[in-house]
Amino acid sequence: MNKKIVFALLLTALCSLSACGNDDIGSLDDSVIVKQGTLNDDTEDVSDENLQTKVSGYVVTEVPTTTVTSATDELGNIIAETVPVEQPPETPSPETPEAETPAKAVPETPEPSVIDYTPSTATPGTPASTAVLPADAPTESDYNYGPAPMVYDIPGIKYIDNVLIANKSYSLPADFYPDLDQTCLNQFYKLQNDASAVGLNIYLSSGFRSYETQDYIYNDYVARDGQEKADTYSARPGHSEHQSGLAIDVNQIDDTFIGTPEAIWLEAHCYEYGFILRYPQSKQDITGYKYESWHIRYVGTDLSYKIHSKAVEMGDPYLTLEEYFGIDSYYH
Ligand SMILES: [Zn+2]
Repeated sequence: MNKKIVFALLLTALCSLSACGNDDIGSLDDSVIVKQGTLNDDTEDVSDENLQTKVSGYVVTEVPTTTVTSATDELGNIIAETVPVEQPPETPSPETPEAETPAKAVPETPEPSVIDYTPSTATPGTPASTAVLPADAPTESDYNYGPAPMVYDIPGIKYIDNVLIANKSYSLPADFYPDLDQTCLNQFYKLQNDASAVGLNIYLSSGFRSYETQDYIYNDYVARDGQEKADTYSARPGHSEHQSGLAIDVNQIDDTFIGTPEAIWLEAHCYEYGFILRYPQSKQDITGYKYESWHIRYVGTDLSYKIHSKAVEMGDPYLTLEEYFGIDSYYH
């Protein structure tokens, strides 16, 4: 089958049926799709090289037929949890994911555009903020140490103390296409392994997402729920943190993840690897998004420890990036 049609069918099936309650659709991830239940990146992984063709620094997403089962398998659970009752989808059971088929006509397929993006503009990040580094923060020789992310010298990207900001107030250029940050991914694997050591299964469900993909997802949500509601859980194109390459969604990308042992562990320990829980509970008015127990943002261990220390000091375990830097998040 023609790849464009396969991609379109996949997008149609996922976007038309999903209501995952956030800005995340794991299986529409541009960089990594990992089958649910996967512990290690090298098992059951629909790998990057199967999904992508990298040409001259650009990444062109392809959808081999082998990803359809895995993708629909994963989203099947999401769909089953969140599709409104009055519009019952053809929801497959987890055991029969192949039963799911696109239910409506194939729309125009959004294609990744040619990216005017130069990786050489990236420079190593430096420790963020002038706050004193907590004594228990890892140093370069420690296993957990995670350096600050790369800083891109690209007009239109908002940085505060070398920390990239992507929220409702600050957007990313449409052609910014960094892919999932390698340091972020490496730190995630450390987190994943340590969670596994205590019997928990935390796996990557969604990583990098392009402007084009977010544009498609967001507009599909707007068409279904209206813009006001869609804005509470889905980022407008250019405003998704996933486009920064520094955000990861884990496990089940919906509210069923809340309160699971994995979610509790993630919230308590992600800072030890350089992550923060980006959209914590009770902070929707500040972050602009509803609680997302599954969405973590990589900032490096220096900053994650500083934020954690500040949160403890303030007695607010849900201190947000917006509060830490004194910025807002709303569409101006
Ligand atoms: Zn997310």
